[in-house]
Amino acid sequence: MRVLITGGAGFIGSHLAEILLQNDHSVICLDNLSTGSEENIKHLRQNPRFRFVEGDIFNAAVVEHLVREVDAVVHLAAAVGVKLIIEDPVSTIETNIHGTQTILSAASKHNTKVLIASSSEVYGKLEKIPLSEEDDMLFGPTVHARWCYACSKAVDEFLALAHHKRTGLPVVIMRFFNIVGPRQTGRYGMVVPRFVEQALTNRPITVYSDGSQVRCFLYVREAVDAVMRLLYEEKAVGEVINIGHPEPITILQLAQTVRKLLNPDAEITFIPYEQVYGKGFEDIKKRVPSIEKASRLIGFSPKVGIEEIIKITADWMKKKIVSS
Ligand code: UDP
Repeated sequence: MRVLITGGAGFIGSHLAEILLQNDHSVICLDNLSTGSEENIKHLRQNPRFRFVEGDIFNAAVVEHLVREVDAVVHLAAAVGVKLIIEDPVSTIETNIHGTQTILSAASKHNTKVLIASSSEVYGKLEKIPLSEEDDMLFGPTVHARWCYACSKAVDEFLALAHHKRTGLPVVIMRFFNIVGPRQTGRYGMVVPRFVEQALTNRPITVYSDGSQVRCFLYVREAVDAVMRLLYEEKAVGEVINIGHPEPITILQLAQTVRKLLNPDAEITFIPYEQVYGKGFEDIKKRVPSIEKASRLIGFSPKVGIEEIIKITADWMKKKIVSS
């Protein structure tokens, strides 16, 4: 299969490219290198089945040209990280909505299958455990920029499903829940690479608020394995599917686990949200996926637990620290 990955030089995109190439597929990776990096894909460059195109998903002519060459598109290019979203909501909304529009309209011309990366953010503040695909969305007010990400991803989902309904365009919507592992940067606020780097460099581990917020962390290799299976699963077409690990952990427990595994002398420090994200920041208290649908459709059953993820991420981070 020939696959176009938008955001292919990013964290999830580069892992997906890798696993597709390992399974004898061909990959075109489109990335504007705004948050992705050449470093993430440099080991793939010599593979004759891999092609990198530096470009923007807003460029309809480029997108259309590339879509014509492939059997499927995995649309991962998007604004990333709570920090970036709060700092630049205009780009977040434009990238997420206009970018997805461009991809879907190009795919419509050739009836090309599109897998759209959505996010567990679309559930918003809903505190139900676990969260199922048919659950309501509960967003905060528009004066809090954080919610623009959730809303823009929800619009992407509506748009993709509307295309599917109108023309039968084969679309699959993947709601990712906190995907983590090597190549994820802490630059945009992501907690696991930040904690791991802090512990390895003897800096305090920065828990925001009291650390009682709950998340579930999925190892990136298991996430891209699910994406690969979704590329083939006919029953997934027209569906919204949670992709996450079902095992919850509080952020304080995460900090304690990182300290135990990487640096028992590390200090854990508590920082108010306001200090990091400004006044009125609203965090999501609990986010735990139901993976019943993914398990039924593609036999999804994540095996890698948080301790192993921390160790794998730390091994990668150590090499990065040494080489920088
Ligand atoms: N977080 C934290 N310290 C950090 C970075 C993040 O305590 O240095 C918290 C953050 O407030 C959130 C959780 O960790 O409650 C997960 O944050 P991340 O940005 O990784 O993902 P998301 O908020 O999208 O779930």
